[in-house]
Amino acid sequence: MTERCSARALDAADPLAPFRGRFLDPGPSVVAYLDGNSLGRPLAETGAHLWSFVAREWGDRLIRAWDESWMDFPFRLGDRLGEVCLGAAAGQCVVADSTSVLIYKLLRAALAAAPERDEIVMSRGDFPTDRYLAEGVAAETGARIVWLEPSMDGGVSVESVAEVVGERTAVVLLSHIAYRSGFLADAPAITAAAHATGARVIWDLCHSVGAVPMSLDAWEVDYAVGCTYKYLNGGPGAPAFAYVAARHQDSFQQPLSGWMGAADPFAMTSPYAPAAGMRRLLTGTPPILAMQPLVEMVAMIAEAGIDAIRAKSVMLTERAIELSDELLAPFGVRLSSPRDAAQRGGHVTIDHPAFEEVTLQLWEQGVIPDFRPPDGIRLGLSPLSTSFAELDLGIEAIREALAARA
Ligand SMILES: *Cc1c(COP(=O)(O)O)cnc(C)c1O
Repeated sequence: MTERCSARALDAADPLAPFRGRFLDPGPSVVAYLDGNSLGRPLAETGAHLWSFVAREWGDRLIRAWDESWMDFPFRLGDRLGEVCLGAAAGQCVVADSTSVLIYKLLRAALAAAPERDEIVMSRGDFPTDRYLAEGVAAETGARIVWLEPSMDGGVSVESVAEVVGERTAVVLLSHIAYRSGFLADAPAITAAAHATGARVIWDLCHSVGAVPMSLDAWEVDYAVGCTYKYLNGGPGAPAFAYVAARHQDSFQQPLSGWMGAADPFAMTSPYAPAAGMRRLLTGTPPILAMQPLVEMVAMIAEAGIDAIRAKSVMLTERAIELSDELLAPFGVRLSSPRDAAQRGGHVTIDHPAFEEVTLQLWEQGVIPDFRPPDGIRLGLSPLSTSFAELDLGIEAIREALAARA
């Protein structure tokens, strides 16, 4: 046994520990929740906030609320998210649709902006919906996908991108943090490598927003997209967000031209003319109700500070790796995430052939990580809601499950 701080001591010294108390207590059926990167926990306040929204805004203001506040709400919330989490100045973010739909819109817009180019660069390690959408867009437009093939425990390097981008590349679509390995890509350097050949980039921020600091404006990112139900705790199916750099907005061509993205939705005129700025990204009526939990969550991230969140996130993932090396590796468990914290996001994946069955067993015991094929347990460590004690309980439960099989 190496000398290691107890989880209790780490929790006692954790400056973010008080935030954990603001989440809704899940009750005795949850012993350790290690899946906050798949579905974040609700804040205790969310129920009251939703009810207040129903009673005051929806119930009392009724249709008047569209004029009074809802028409601008997806942009106000987007601006706040941009400021607190994305390093984006106002006027470049909107909350709307799902990540999948927004990926479609951004891919089509990026291709439309470069009619002389016909290649999309992406990674085989990307999340399925990103790959499926690119395949669909390629079939629709005649574009060709150039696949990068990173290792299972790693991710996309600057060199691997620089090698394939060229005068035919319209757009590079990549995940800032790989959903399986947790590899944290060098977004500014990859963006610069794409730009050097005249290509644009779309960053998928699903696994990084709310967990790692970022500076989309300073990195000169073209487009970004991300979901709000992981580290942003927006709730199941909470709408996603998109970022479009100000310099690309006037020429942004929306493939799903609907009335809410039109210049004057209530003029009921024809034909379609796009609204100015980010409003043209909208298609239909935005899900205002489903955006409500995000208000408190973004405020809480601002209060905690994204740098402090990242610092705790690194401590949690370091400890997960240490504990796994010591307690799980003797059973044949392999680490499938980067060992270097600078290349790692907020989750850690470990592999073992028995993990599909082990995960089922863990869920029955109230220990909840998730399983990622072919044989990975993904430990999602959400800095504002995960304690060090919870992590220890989770690793111990995995050790016991493996020991019982040995
Ligand atoms: C979670 C996730 C998605 C989810 O897309 P939805 O449209 O919200 O279902 C997309 N891409 C990545 C990388 C993800 O991690």
